[in-house]
Amino acid sequence: MHDHAPKPSRDHARLPTNNPGDHALGRRVSAGVPAFERRWAELEPIGRAPSGGYRRFAWTRTDAVLREWFAGQAQALGLDLTEDRAGNQWAWWGDPDAAVAAGDPGIVTGSHLDSVPDGGAFDGPLGVVSALTAIEALQAAGFTPGRPIGVVNFVDEEGARFGIACAGSRIITGALTSDRAAGLRDSDGVTLAEALLSAGQEPTSLGRDDETLRRIGTFVELHVEQGRALAGDGPQAPVGVASAIWPHGRWRFDFAGEANHAGTTRLADRHDPMLDFAQAVLQAREVAAGHAAVATFGKVRVEPNGVNAIPSLVRAWLDARGPTETAARDVVRDLTALADRVGATVTEESWTSNQAFDSTLRDRLADLLGGSDGPAPILGTGAGHDAGILAAAGVPTGMLFVRNPTGVSHSPAEHAELDDCLAGVQALQTVLQDLAS
Ligand SMILES: [Zn+2]
Repeated sequence: MHDHAPKPSRDHARLPTNNPGDHALGRRVSAGVPAFERRWAELEPIGRAPSGGYRRFAWTRTDAVLREWFAGQAQALGLDLTEDRAGNQWAWWGDPDAAVAAGDPGIVTGSHLDSVPDGGAFDGPLGVVSALTAIEALQAAGFTPGRPIGVVNFVDEEGARFGIACAGSRIITGALTSDRAAGLRDSDGVTLAEALLSAGQEPTSLGRDDETLRRIGTFVELHVEQGRALAGDGPQAPVGVASAIWPHGRWRFDFAGEANHAGTTRLADRHDPMLDFAQAVLQAREVAAGHAAVATFGKVRVEPNGVNAIPSLVRAWLDARGPTETAARDVVRDLTALADRVGATVTEESWTSNQAFDSTLRDRLADLLGGSDGPAPILGTGAGHDAGILAAAGVPTGMLFVRNPTGVSHSPAEHAELDDCLAGVQALQTVLQDLAS
């Protein structure tokens, strides 16, 4: 039935045994169990394609349903819902502005609800569902936050529709200017401004949002791990703490050629850009290995895209990341040299520097979530997140990763076990309780 749901493997009939003083990861509070599963089941059918993968793209009808769901969750928990100048949704427990005035701004958690094309169920939604469930558990335990707690649903984290990842956080931090954002186009030529209008939003309000940023004293994003550091040869733990996000970027390669008949044009007379592209794909793999980085041509558009036509243009997008900025940049430098030789052009569409998370917060999270055998594991990641954008903007930021047994992500096969998801909820509850006390 629900192939992508966390597999129930514990006794769900157990009664809640909330204990507000319980901080230890090992002693789970089971009040969150039915709440987590209920929310998961509500989200599960939204934007799910027949393939089993998710197609949840920014400012579409599916996105509107997800936003409505989030607003309903906020209302049910008695949280105050606001939207910022990029359309990100914030649900506040307590008054964020009173806390700013008092010089002690709030604690924010949350993630995103959008997906890559045919993405998995966990990337994004796990952080949002866990945040809402942790808050519900804290409320049920009678916890009174000393600082307001917010849950955010960031818009367009994956950049699947308009090509810029983390667009929602980039816009409010000013990393993506309002002019550039408004003019971004999807594959049908629809601009972000037009998409906002048809979603009932006001595109002229797009822009850096200091009022929203001031409210975030600390941001902690929970996310499914997109790798196997917690499941492989390393430390076996359901939840880990992020150290840094690898530097990463996206580049567009335009290989121009000459359209012609696939049957009548002699091989010698052809100018076929697909050959140059093929060479670039092979070289990307080779140079990435040489620089201990990763590089991927995962998206390509061909013109005229006919079986019996030699292409006039191959436009391909490279995603490159590395443990250091030099490693990632070197990959692109080598591929640009190839592009120059074949007359192709290379355009940088986005670049994000190495994002180390706040080290004090990181250590505090690891200590809080550790057990008798020491602090929780600390790991780096090659995936970008809104948390990285906020960290770059100077917000004290941390991330929690929930174990992913296969490491598969951005695929319908992405998975986390229910027990690990619930450990994530418990970890978040512990963290929120500590930071907001
Ligand atoms: Zn994500």
